[in-house]
Amino acid sequence: MTYKAEYIWTDGTKPTAKLRSKTRILADGAELPVWGFDGSSTSQAEGHASDRVLKPVASYPDPIRGGANLLVLCEVFNTDGTPHESNTRAALREVAERFADQESLFGIEQEYTFFQGVRPLGFPEGGFPAPQGGYYCGVGADEIFGRAIVEKHLDNCLAAGLGISGINAEVMPGQWEFQVGPLSPLEVSDQLWIARWLLYRTAEDFGVSATLDPKPVKGDWNGAGAHTNFSTKAMREGYDAIIEAAEALGRDDKPLEHIRNYGADVEARLTGAHETAPWNAYSYGVSDRGASVRIPWQVEVDKKGYIEDRRPNANVDPYVVTRLIVDTCCAALEK
Ligand code: ADP
Ligand code: MN
Ligand code: MN
Ligand code: MN
Ligand code: MN
Repeated sequence: MTYKAEYIWTDGTKPTAKLRSKTRILADGAELPVWGFDGSSTSQAEGHASDRVLKPVASYPDPIRGGANLLVLCEVFNTDGTPHESNTRAALREVAERFADQESLFGIEQEYTFFQGVRPLGFPEGGFPAPQGGYYCGVGADEIFGRAIVEKHLDNCLAAGLGISGINAEVMPGQWEFQVGPLSPLEVSDQLWIARWLLYRTAEDFGVSATLDPKPVKGDWNGAGAHTNFSTKAMREGYDAIIEAAEALGRDDKPLEHIRNYGADVEARLTGAHETAPWNAYSYGVSDRGASVRIPWQVEVDKKGYIEDRRPNANVDPYVVTRLIVDTCCAALEK
């Protein structure tokens, strides 16, 4: 007997990597082999030396095909065994390992927008829906667009064993959110990429696409972010570490270094309006959804917990944002 392994990887598309996948038939009980692909078709190679290598790093039960079939997340390598330049997971591995004793945890809130054709789901032909106000966490056919897809996606994520912690309808019609975590840096990032793949794959069967575009509709409509919640063991145990992490993110050249790597076109979303802080002015505050970094009110009451970096775009690479936050905050907390 055989099973199907769906090999999934991130490609070399700039400025935002796309997900790619292809199917391998394997004999029951066979280990997941390394595999090759045509890197010249994924912006990961030139045609004259096009072979790239897929190395399985994590696998999950495939909720689409069911049975013994698997989703297989891969890192991309060059044929000489070095990580391909698009392989951002390789750099996270090193940083996560270096600071492993601080036991970092992340919960990422993934916002996204459904599209049918050229319009967000729920936007009338040639016009706009009623202004924002009733859609966030709404109920009813006048406010909610795509719930059947969202429910199916949630079930698929749970069946794949992903650490999904919740979902909600967002501020703009057709806009939704799911949360992954809290999990270790590598786990949350791997699972976020798989959850994104399942989002596209699930919506495909409904004739709907999903986008991580940070500002899918210009004007007075909310953008889509990926709020990144972060804690270390020390932060989960005391408030000094919470403040030090929030301070460290604002020190020296850190704000710009982070912003530059928080997703394509992040400046278009971080305007200072629509529950964002301006991209070029770092701030943190308790309960403040207009700050770059928010300390949740409960964390201030308990004097321990986590912080929320509200800056990352929906289209951020989780391997990059978790690496930067661990690197910046854990180095500061180590002192
Ligand atoms: P918001 O009020 O910002 O919409 P959500 O409930 O959508 O908050 O998301 C909060 C996220 O914080 C969840 O993904 C959750 O897993 C994560 N989280 C909770 N506790 C911690 C922690 N100690 N460290 C890191 N992340 C955490
Ligand atoms: Mn071919
Ligand atoms: Mn949220
Ligand atoms: Mn949200
Ligand atoms: Mn949030």
